[in-house]
Amino acid sequence: MKIIGVRSIKREQILDITPQVQEFVAESGHASGLVAVYCPHTTAGLSVNENADPDVKDDMLVSLKTLIPRSPEFKHAEGNADAHIKSVVIGFSQVFMVEDGKILLGHWQQIYFMEFDGPRDREVWLKFIAG
Ligand code: ZN
Repeated sequence: MKIIGVRSIKREQILDITPQVQEFVAESGHASGLVAVYCPHTTAGLSVNENADPDVKDDMLVSLKTLIPRSPEFKHAEGNADAHIKSVVIGFSQVFMVEDGKILLGHWQQIYFMEFDGPRDREVWLKFIAG
C-alpha cells in the first residue's frame, strides 16, 4: 500500500493522477494484477475521463455545479454540503487491470482526482493485488 499526495489549488479542480498510479504499478514489480485507487476524503472523489481536450474537465465541473448547486437550504453547518454530495455521486474508488506492468486504460482515458472543496492537501491510497 502506498499513499500519494495530491494538492489542489482551487475549490473545484480535476487533477490527472495517472502518472503517479502508473509509477506505483511499476514500483510494485508485478506485471499483472489489479491496482485499487481509493480517495479517503468526503469532499473529493475519483473518476476516469477524456484526456485529449482540457475543456472536458471544465464542462464536468460546470455540469456538476448545475446539478448540485450550493444551496441555502442545505443544513450542514460547515457550508460544503454540495461538495459532500458531489463526492458521493462521483465515488471514492476505482480499480484498474494491469498487464505487462501497465494500467489498462482506453486510448482517451486518464485517472482523475476530483476536488470539490479545495484548495487542500489530499491523499490517494493505492494497493496492488498481484494475479
Ligand atoms: Zn462538511
